[in-house]
Amino acid sequence: MMCARAVQHVDGLDSSTPAAQAGGHNLIEKHFRGNQIPTARCARPPRKARNHGGPDGAARHGYAPLFSPLVSGDDDMRVFSAGLGTETNTFAPMPTSLASFRDRDYYPAGTHPDTVTFAGAPLYVARQRGKALGWELFEGVVTSAQPGGITTRSAYETLRDELLADLRRALPVDMVLLGLHGAMVADGYDDCEGDVLRRVREIVGPGVTVGAELDPHAHLTPAMVEHADVLVLFKEYPHTDIRERAQELVTLCVQAREGRIAPKAALVDCEMIVPMHTTREPARSFVRRIQEMEGKNGILSISVAQGFATGDVPEMGTKVLVYADGDAGQARQAARRLADELIAMREQLMVPYRSIDEALDEARAFEGGPVVLADRPDNPGSGAPGDSTFMLARMLERGVRNAALGPLWDPVAVRIAFDAEPGATLMMRLGGKVGPLSGDPVDVSCTVKALKKNLVMTGLSGAPAPMGDCALVEAQGIEIVLTSVRNQAINTDLFSQLGCDLASKKIVVVKSAQHFHASFSQVARHVIYVGGRGVATPDWKTLPYRKIRRPKWPL
Ligand SMILES: [Zn+2]
Repeated sequence: MMCARAVQHVDGLDSSTPAAQAGGHNLIEKHFRGNQIPTARCARPPRKARNHGGPDGAARHGYAPLFSPLVSGDDDMRVFSAGLGTETNTFAPMPTSLASFRDRDYYPAGTHPDTVTFAGAPLYVARQRGKALGWELFEGVVTSAQPGGITTRSAYETLRDELLADLRRALPVDMVLLGLHGAMVADGYDDCEGDVLRRVREIVGPGVTVGAELDPHAHLTPAMVEHADVLVLFKEYPHTDIRERAQELVTLCVQAREGRIAPKAALVDCEMIVPMHTTREPARSFVRRIQEMEGKNGILSISVAQGFATGDVPEMGTKVLVYADGDAGQARQAARRLADELIAMREQLMVPYRSIDEALDEARAFEGGPVVLADRPDNPGSGAPGDSTFMLARMLERGVRNAALGPLWDPVAVRIAFDAEPGATLMMRLGGKVGPLSGDPVDVSCTVKALKKNLVMTGLSGAPAPMGDCALVEAQGIEIVLTSVRNQAINTDLFSQLGCDLASKKIVVVKSAQHFHASFSQVARHVIYVGGRGVATPDWKTLPYRKIRRPKWPL
């Protein structure tokens, strides 16, 4: 039942083609020579087509092909996949609830769409591999929430227990593939992912291969490493490689399952917290280099957890995780060496932040445009509200014109804009609602330029990012995107879908720390990172940490 889609696509036959619609089922039955296809089983193409990895490039990256002529493959492989994730800013004022998960991604068992989602990339890849290799794939719940404050105990336990119940229904399984984040904190749980993996391991036992994909902004804990056979973190920041890392995860798990590799892990704590923007040096070359090391000389996989500074838990910080084939000592050596290299470059990894006025001065002095200003302290992707007005208020005070700003999370203002209709000019109160770190609301005369119901922005790695009903309003030469669902600026189509022409602007302010860069760098002539007050401030020394383990450079 859960593999219905795969059944429609056997042997390259797309169900949308006339041939498939006319006689697809007959063709499928012919391939199977009368064998009955169990409803929960992924149909597979004829045996001659089943070699050298899946259709998505399984054999890339120096790993041995999944199915060499000497390896027949496991015809009866039973695989469970699911996902659960968010990134918790323990200083943020808004709790993360069940509704927060439903706002972004909530797919109960068997309902995940045919696309990569934030916590669903392992499942998506498992579908493709399973189709080619004849796996019986059990698709559990996949859900993720926009980063926010501490997850309520009931939300976490409800979703965790849903995932575990889905797993129990699928038993017995050979392999478990999870999409997690790694920085989820719930009331009573400092290490949600360690808790999930421990419970999964308890359910399936030691003989089952358990793998998970994580975000590099994870508190990569010893418990997570202990209870999984393989963990693979995204390497890019912006996270443009969610699908590629899931492909590697699945490849490594299959190889481990078949006994062709024996991943031995080493985790080294760098006793620091640094960002790693892979859009610039030295992080860019460092990541390219660790990718060069993977798949060679017994090194199976290398991940760097940058860590998530606004999560106050003991395990917060930058860490290196290395898997070596059967040799824990080799993994330890490599992890230590790479950790020392990161420590040596930590000053250069830090982001140079400007104050609001410095950034506006620099942008105005820059010849041409647009100049993109990243409002890092109010980045919803780090758990900030996305409704702070510090930048907007200063731009209005300084008479900045020909500018755009967004997304500003303000469902009330969106509702008023929809009631007013396009073309209307009215006094509006914008933003500044969640708390003192959002600043004061801005009262300003606005013209409603455009409205769009249920706007969907292109999100991380192309995953759809719902923004809810959205309005474009103009106040004194500044076009502002108001949203009713909280999210950061990831793609310029947030603006263009409302008719806002970014290329013609002098200044574009985005609420985002770094994910904006992949798309907005296409139009930006210059990028400036802005620091200062906010729920996601990069000025970590101002945060009232209680739980983190020290030393923790630069704190
Ligand atoms: Zn991240």
